[in-house]
Amino acid sequence: MNEKLIFDLSRSGRKGYCLSQNDFPEVPLESILPQEHLRKEPPALPEVSESEVVRHFVRLSNMNFHVDKGMYPLGSCTMKYNPKINDYTCSLPGFAALHPLQPETSAQGALRLMYELSEMLREIAGMAAVTLQPAAGAHGELTGILLIKKYHESNGSERRKLLVVDSAHGTNPASAALAGYEIVSVSCNADGRTDLEDLARKLDRDVAALMLTNPNTVGVFEKDIRAIADMVHDNGSLLYMDGANMNALLGITRPGDMGFDVMHYNLHKTFSTPHGGGGPGSGPVAVCEKLVPFLPVPVVEKEEGPEGATYKLTVDRPESIGRMINFYGNFGVLVRAYTYIRMLGAEGLGRVSENAIINANYLLSRLEASFDLPYPKPVMHEFCLSGDRQKKAHGVRTLDMAKRLLDFGFHAPTIYFPLIVSEAMMIEPTETEAKETLDIFADTLKKIAEEAAADPAFVQSAPVTTPVKRLDEAQASRQLNICCF
Ligand SMILES: *Cc1c(COP(=O)(O)O)cnc(C)c1O
Repeated sequence: MNEKLIFDLSRSGRKGYCLSQNDFPEVPLESILPQEHLRKEPPALPEVSESEVVRHFVRLSNMNFHVDKGMYPLGSCTMKYNPKINDYTCSLPGFAALHPLQPETSAQGALRLMYELSEMLREIAGMAAVTLQPAAGAHGELTGILLIKKYHESNGSERRKLLVVDSAHGTNPASAALAGYEIVSVSCNADGRTDLEDLARKLDRDVAALMLTNPNTVGVFEKDIRAIADMVHDNGSLLYMDGANMNALLGITRPGDMGFDVMHYNLHKTFSTPHGGGGPGSGPVAVCEKLVPFLPVPVVEKEEGPEGATYKLTVDRPESIGRMINFYGNFGVLVRAYTYIRMLGAEGLGRVSENAIINANYLLSRLEASFDLPYPKPVMHEFCLSGDRQKKAHGVRTLDMAKRLLDFGFHAPTIYFPLIVSEAMMIEPTETEAKETLDIFADTLKKIAEEAAADPAFVQSAPVTTPVKRLDEAQASRQLNICCF
């Protein structure tokens, strides 16, 4: 557990490669590169052998927690197991070695993949068109809101407010503010759903749109969604869906059918790409017919010809909001999502959501006696517990119990989110965990609740078996020292 920095493993002259003698004449760099681009001194790189490099990083990966090692019940993040075939397809040289400036004629396969993925996402959303450009969920939100803004502007209407429900993910108000809107919060009621009376009060002629997550971030389905859509549309406003929770809806219902005008996906969540360590994301945006003219350019188009279909990128969209990213989005994530969808097919995608919902409700039924349940059952693909009982009776906080889970080889769930639940613990098992794993997780969390009663000080000192023990989180976030152990 005492892993050194790779620089400390360095020994002068040691190499990780060995090449055969080449028979080309050696040319001094000075003769081919301009003087100002030449280094004065060699770069300070570690000098290590291949086996030292491999072992160093394998040891580090063993100290870390990852979804290939154990369950990751991180609510709202859909940390499902990522099938390895996704990485295989995305590293095929025809995809991995493409250059974004390559002519379209030599990148037909990539363009076709983008076209077909957009079509599949369009169908899953029940909408009119999709852009694949946004690089993450929050970037998709910004794109969607800019589309809404352009729509109102093109109708000669200046609306300045955006409504956001108080259970929403923090990125919702942040994206709306970034697009220049004033945020108005709408509250939710005792069963965790949008409060229709509060919505009616706040929905005035200055409201551009309502942003909603369905199922929302306490895991509850907004069953009044049609009434909400009618209220919003009667007011001339648009309805935005944060689609990060699509893992509950695939093949069961579609945002377009519920009355949403625009939504973003999180491909890295619902359609499986490793994420969470700052890895690449993708947040495609699906829109209804009236927002299509404003979509970002370039758009991938398909043309039927005598020799079959060809694909091209067009920028000829005079009303477009413009580009949202350089080139075409995080292409590797698109390949992974495409592979995942094609592997499962329509029927398989439907079973993903059914199993995600069954897993969440099973786990909830095993845990509800040990913790407070802020909102009534049933839930969709995730659920929210509260650690209030343990805090009041024993002074043990949700943070302490989450840390203690690490000792048992589980990642902690999402905690203290959503903000409207005190001592929140938000759990999303996903469809990829077997019943046996769910049972061990439930037994572990119940055991921790018992420990909290029997020996509160011990739980407050957890974790005790991890490479790094309890950190001072305030100091850690202010003084980022990643080599402190
Ligand atoms: C993850 C998430 C987002 C933001 O997505 P990023 O890809 O992390 O930018 C937005 N809303 C909800 C509900 C989420 O779970």
